[in-house]
Amino acid sequence: MATELLSPPRKRSTPEFVPELVYFEPNALDYPKGRRIHEWAQAQGLPIRMTTSHNRITNFPGESELESYKIAKRTLVVGVRKTLTFDTSKPSAEYAIPIATGCMGHCHYCYLQTTLGAKPYIRVYVNMDDILQAAERYIEERAPELTRFEAACTSDPVGLEPITGSLKELIEFMGRQPLGRLRFVTKFHHVDSLLDARHNGHTRFRFSVNADYVIRHFEPATSTFSERIEAAGKVARAGYPLGFIIAPIIWHEGWEDGYAELLRKLQESVPAEATKDLTFELIQHRFTKTAKTIIERRYPKTKLEMDEAKRKYKWGRWGQGKYVYPDEQANALREYITERIFERFPEAKIEYFT
Ligand code: SF4
Repeated sequence: MATELLSPPRKRSTPEFVPELVYFEPNALDYPKGRRIHEWAQAQGLPIRMTTSHNRITNFPGESELESYKIAKRTLVVGVRKTLTFDTSKPSAEYAIPIATGCMGHCHYCYLQTTLGAKPYIRVYVNMDDILQAAERYIEERAPELTRFEAACTSDPVGLEPITGSLKELIEFMGRQPLGRLRFVTKFHHVDSLLDARHNGHTRFRFSVNADYVIRHFEPATSTFSERIEAAGKVARAGYPLGFIIAPIIWHEGWEDGYAELLRKLQESVPAEATKDLTFELIQHRFTKTAKTIIERRYPKTKLEMDEAKRKYKWGRWGQGKYVYPDEQANALREYITERIFERFPEAKIEYFT
């Protein structure tokens, strides 16, 4: 009995996402994926509504704007993707491939808050065949060059995978494309259904990681760091090329120790076979004036530092510019983290710092 009392409490794992409310476009039910999600939502006992367009949902329940926002982030909209023109996605890939829009995570700094504006709800698309055919056309256009697609520009596709299964379809499609490559990044650990996908080494599976301070203060409603790196070990053992995105890199008290500790923990948990072809992408924290206003409204208690006076203004090519760290700080972050990466992973490749 005494030993039972002394055993450490079991850590609760981050559950898979289950929305509070599900909308369907009527024609989404013409597709097998739409019908499957509908059955799933019914089996879960979720409230189901119909909508004429996944782009026009308003009037979320909630007493205040903040409450409505939180409910919108837990609302799933199942629709047909009509726009089959892909956006470009520099520097990590040639194109963004749209399999979902919106995310259940609540990262304070997330740029989706600005880019999705009044539509923070989660949209998933049932017409995967159309999306894959469009990808095939983009691949043909660039042949014999490789074409890379980024699947996480507007969403976190791993977090939605248990509901849609779309990422597995996309991974297997890309596995069959001699000139197509896929990449995505996630903060979720729900990877089990992807481990037996026939990826053929054509998908780079990246995890977003950060110093403990950043994860603790700014990334609610995502999987924990230890869940993410455990999942990274699983996907590496399943033969996927692995990568880490350290973003946003945030200057905070004790940042050197925080990032050194991050790299130490990664070295401890990444399986040896994944260290030969391991990539890192480094992105310093940035914000726009619009983002700052939205973040302060939605996360009024945030500790996220967004003081324009402490930042350097970087003009944007289209429209408004961003506030980044002044060169001296940005260089210190880049140099220090780069050194720690090569100390721990001498064969890794740093794809960019931005
Ligand atoms: S997990 Fe990614 S996409 Fe989702 S809120 Fe966080 S930063 Fe945004």
